[in-house]
Amino acid sequence: MTRRLFPLAIAAVFLPACFAQSAPAPAPAEHPLAAIPYSPSLDLTDMDRTANPCVDFYQYVCGGWMKNNPIPSDQPAWSVYAKLDQENRQFLWGILDEDAKRAHRTPDQQKIGDYFAACMDTDAVSARGLAPLQPELDRIAAIKDRAEIAAFLREGADQRGLYFLNAGSEPDPKNAGMMIAGIEAGGLGLPDRDYYTKTDARSQEIRQRFVAYMAHLLVLAGEPQAQADQDAAATMKIETALATASLTRVERRNPYNVYHPMKIEAVDALAPSLQLGDYLSEEHVPASILSNVDVAQPKFLAALQTELATEPLDSLKAYLRIHALNQAAPSLSSDFEDARFDFYFKYLRGVPQMPARWKRCEGQVDRYLGEALGREFVDRNFSPVTKQKVLVMTQQIEQAMQQEIQNLDWMSPATKQAAIAKLHLVHNKIGYPDKWRDYSSLSIERNDYYGNVLRAHAFEEKRDWAKVGKPVDKDEWFMSPPTVNAYYDPQMNDINFPAGVLQPPLYDPQEDDAPNYGDTGGTIGHELTHGFDDEGRQFDGYGNLKDWWTPADAKGFEDRINCQREQYAQYIIVDDIHINSKLTSGEDTADLGGTLLAWLAWKKQTAGMHLENRDGFTPDQRFFIGYAQWACENERPENLRVSAITNPHSPGKYRVNGIVADLPQFAQAFGCKAGQPMVSAKACKVW
Ligand SMILES: [Zn+2]
Repeated sequence: MTRRLFPLAIAAVFLPACFAQSAPAPAPAEHPLAAIPYSPSLDLTDMDRTANPCVDFYQYVCGGWMKNNPIPSDQPAWSVYAKLDQENRQFLWGILDEDAKRAHRTPDQQKIGDYFAACMDTDAVSARGLAPLQPELDRIAAIKDRAEIAAFLREGADQRGLYFLNAGSEPDPKNAGMMIAGIEAGGLGLPDRDYYTKTDARSQEIRQRFVAYMAHLLVLAGEPQAQADQDAAATMKIETALATASLTRVERRNPYNVYHPMKIEAVDALAPSLQLGDYLSEEHVPASILSNVDVAQPKFLAALQTELATEPLDSLKAYLRIHALNQAAPSLSSDFEDARFDFYFKYLRGVPQMPARWKRCEGQVDRYLGEALGREFVDRNFSPVTKQKVLVMTQQIEQAMQQEIQNLDWMSPATKQAAIAKLHLVHNKIGYPDKWRDYSSLSIERNDYYGNVLRAHAFEEKRDWAKVGKPVDKDEWFMSPPTVNAYYDPQMNDINFPAGVLQPPLYDPQEDDAPNYGDTGGTIGHELTHGFDDEGRQFDGYGNLKDWWTPADAKGFEDRINCQREQYAQYIIVDDIHINSKLTSGEDTADLGGTLLAWLAWKKQTAGMHLENRDGFTPDQRFFIGYAQWACENERPENLRVSAITNPHSPGKYRVNGIVADLPQFAQAFGCKAGQPMVSAKACKVW
């Protein structure tokens, strides 16, 4: 897979649940869809009109949705976005079925159809059992001393990565026009480094269950239980050392914390056991680029070196065996796949049931052949009219941002000018790429599922390394067109809205401007504001890590950010766990700024028009209801506990209530009074 190494390089509007208490709702009746079912962007049946909008606006707009949309048994959470994502997948399933069967196919249709068909052939997958991974396990078994580990990691890295760490291309943080090589931390089996260091009872239990899971993988692969237990404990020891040396998510939000350019000789001196210079040379990284390798976390690399030099060889080999099994488990027979699901989803996230095979196979096609599949989606499902309307909306929102910057009373003219210069350089990408990815060098075979996985991975690796030493390709997308999400990339300074996020109930061509500017306008404003949040503001319009702020204005910005951090730190996610508002700060700022920008753009769009009340709501009220209904969701408590550690977004409830409480326009629209919960005394405002 292509990796954007810069840790939070992509700020998405929504963190998709990787996949799915009380009495589980059944998985929805699933069949391929010929068309995506329509639901409006402002839906009265989603509301709970018995609630008071000034007390709990989220309950008021989403109460009906929450009641009518229990979490399906194969999901960790359910939301308006997740439901649309599911429908997109069912629509794509139909296309994949067709492409698997039809007689005359384009080369891309052959690839996506045969990838899907091979993945769906569970008889063939079961019959092979562990066999596809056996060559890799044999290579690990053949390592005779620790000096051989670097060569082992290099050989086959294109098909499965480097196990202990991640490496790939990235834009040079100080020269964003050019792609360089980056080395990132990695090597952990749990979702975050904090799982290894937290001392509460739940964290201790998770670690025990994780060790048991690792041992189970080894037993499935034929190891005796006692040996497997010992190997799993040794692996946990190595991972704990790596986790302790890794930066926290909050620390990684500061781009300077993860930028350490060095010559490859210095990298090799830091971690001689890895021989990364040899690895990069084999990946054809040009010599000129080897003098400027970005090591995101030198402390991690030093800790990894210590492990490689001091841990017993048998422990290191156990680590490699377990990581090989864990990584391959989704592509092996069902015993491995079930074991993986049981730990990561059933136990950790509370999901009762594994998603159906078709969904997992569709997900893989999206991951590896996303633009081939996405092209089929766009051809059938995305109109040039929508693209044009969204472009106009985007331009209006950018104009609103310019106006806002000019009107700020706390910012100096010099910083305003720099901010507007950055704003003018934002690149708008709507729907799908101008140039589709060329998959012609990737061979996909109908009867070789595991081989397809390896070749697809190697294709991505090769494509990724080929970028190094070349100018940044500003037209590249990091989400496939059907994806129900959007992102801002600070090093590209672009905002990206895949076709999947521009359809009902989000962007709704059948609705008027009020809900559309609220919802899609809010999303556009959200991504644009990321360019000016606590992380994005540290990059200039060309994507360079460069301070364009006067010290006084930077202080003014931090004061305003802190207002919002204090506000969000009071909100509870689950149990007694509060939002880690230093982690969610960028998203919270983007939500607040985005909603205000959408409001201003909508006011400009409808200036001089006579707007009528509908369904008993004023136009201003309909803007806010349309805006808020994107966020309706239900989430399992287990998943909320994972989200509290890993998700940079606040829960949907606060993405609505926290925002409207800060906007006087909302209080005015609903007649809310000071002292009511939806009227924040501080009224934080960043942009
Ligand atoms: Zn975001």
